[in-house]
Amino acid sequence: MRTASERRELLKAVYEEARGCTRCPLHQTRTTVVFGAGNADADLMFIGEAPGANEDRMGLPFVGQAGKLLDKLLAEIGLDRGDVFVANTLKCRPPDNRDPHPNEIEACQDYLRRQVDLIEPTVICTLGNFSTKLLREDTTGISRLHGREEVRIIGPRAVRLYPLYHPAAALYTPSTLEALRADFHRIPELLALGPPEQPQVLGDIPELEDLGDEEEELGPAGEPEPAAQLGLF
Ligand code: URA
Repeated sequence: MRTASERRELLKAVYEEARGCTRCPLHQTRTTVVFGAGNADADLMFIGEAPGANEDRMGLPFVGQAGKLLDKLLAEIGLDRGDVFVANTLKCRPPDNRDPHPNEIEACQDYLRRQVDLIEPTVICTLGNFSTKLLREDTTGISRLHGREEVRIIGPRAVRLYPLYHPAAALYTPSTLEALRADFHRIPELLALGPPEQPQVLGDIPELEDLGDEEEELGPAGEPEPAAQLGLF
């Protein structure tokens, strides 16, 4: 098990890599890479779609109207941003807030998977279709899946995946807001279940002992922290 500060340092190293990313054409139009923000040691993670104009400018996820709704719903269950980690499927803004393209999701998913592997959340709430389809590796849409928790293997671990409507979809549709709120209010119940049963690790793998050394070499590059989002890890 990693300590909270080990998680934070490893996450910072991934952020350092992501903030210079040129893996897809969105790097040409973005202002800032929106890596994600919150508690690197969180049990609960939210994964949205992609940064919008406000997020692109500020470098932080969910800072516009959808973010305000997210904050409100979090407060209703006694949580705030410092208790959770919030990230997106894409780390860069698609021009004119268009939908993410498959090549962009493909290019970006490695960052998200590394975030999940490092944070080791118990519950992942996917917000809307894009993150739900990506993590479930299935095309079933959010209107069928919202509010239905399931145990899924993501990377090396089992997590409780809990698809929710995207807060932006709930902003102007009262029935969607009602469903999102009802689903949201079940999050504490899911957290209280604790981590799901984990996949069996087959015996002791001697090479794993060496991994500790490699991880230590992955520390911060010694540069000043470049963005407010790091302060939130
Ligand atoms: N919508 C998202 O999916 N992510 C954000 O960060 C903001 C709006």
